Amino acid sequence: MQAHRTQEGATAPFYFPQGDEREVFAAAQANGLPLLLKGPTGCGKTRFVAHMAAQLERRLYTVACHDDLSATDLIGRYLLKGGETVWVDGPLTRAVREGAICYLDEVVEARKDVTVVLHPLTDDRRILPIDRTGEELEAASGFMLVASYNPGYQNILKTLKPSTRQRFLAIEFDFPNPEQETEIVAVESGLPAQRVAPLVRLAGKLRGLKGQDLEEGVSTRLLVYCATLIRQGMPVERAIRAAMIEPLTDDEDVKRGLLDLVTAVFG
Ligand code: ADP
Repeated sequence: MQAHRTQEGATAPFYFPQGDEREVFAAAQANGLPLLLKGPTGCGKTRFVAHMAAQLERRLYTVACHDDLSATDLIGRYLLKGGETVWVDGPLTRAVREGAICYLDEVVEARKDVTVVLHPLTDDRRILPIDRTGEELEAASGFMLVASYNPGYQNILKTLKPSTRQRFLAIEFDFPNPEQETEIVAVESGLPAQRVAPLVRLAGKLRGLKGQDLEEGVSTRLLVYCATLIRQGMPVERAIRAAMIEPLTDDEDVKRGLLDLVTAVFG
């Protein structure tokens, strides 16, 4: 399981706001309310949470959810250490004890028993029952639960149940507008903005194909990868193929169609 912690007091990682999401996050955190971030993959949700945690000087525990992730992984387990059985807190329990922020990335991927754990934490009780130890932890002041999910996948088995989602405030994310995205990609990659702009234009065209030829459009993350390769000296078309075409599809016909779009934008 991937969980990592950000030390409080660290300088906040660069984040270009799309609107008033920072104010909503800060208000949620101040009032102990859980927050759901909805939006496509690679549009800045994780970066936003890292930025806000640093700004608000809160520790951050990030958990990348997957279909094998269980409540035990979040809460903790008994482990054998030097012949002794000791209880080891999971990332959620640590965040609850310390008053930290716990970010469950792609929460719908996790096993069903995870939602059961989240319910008493996301209402006004703010408690985490730990069956194995018999403890019932009250969340320390400052604790905040943040979860993200991508509504675009439209998998009926992998949506959040209304009884769960209605416990969270929610913010919708989308890809930044072209001016914002150009600035973000320029800052992140170091490639000058005038060289980033046509890549952003191309991304806009590729996103237009979502639902027809492509399941998902190009993410801001892939644009950053592409610009990084170009800044390192890779020819533009090669970088586009590696970062903006091959990751999107395996279908040779679709790839050819996408390359035609590249020619249309870059001439
Ligand atoms: P998500 O969590 O939505 O899948 P990330 O937060 O990991 O996406 O974003 C992917 C990358 O895109 C980040 O590492 C960062 O380089 C860039 N990025 C996207 N949006 C922003 C933004 N608003 N400000 C700064 N960087 C951004």
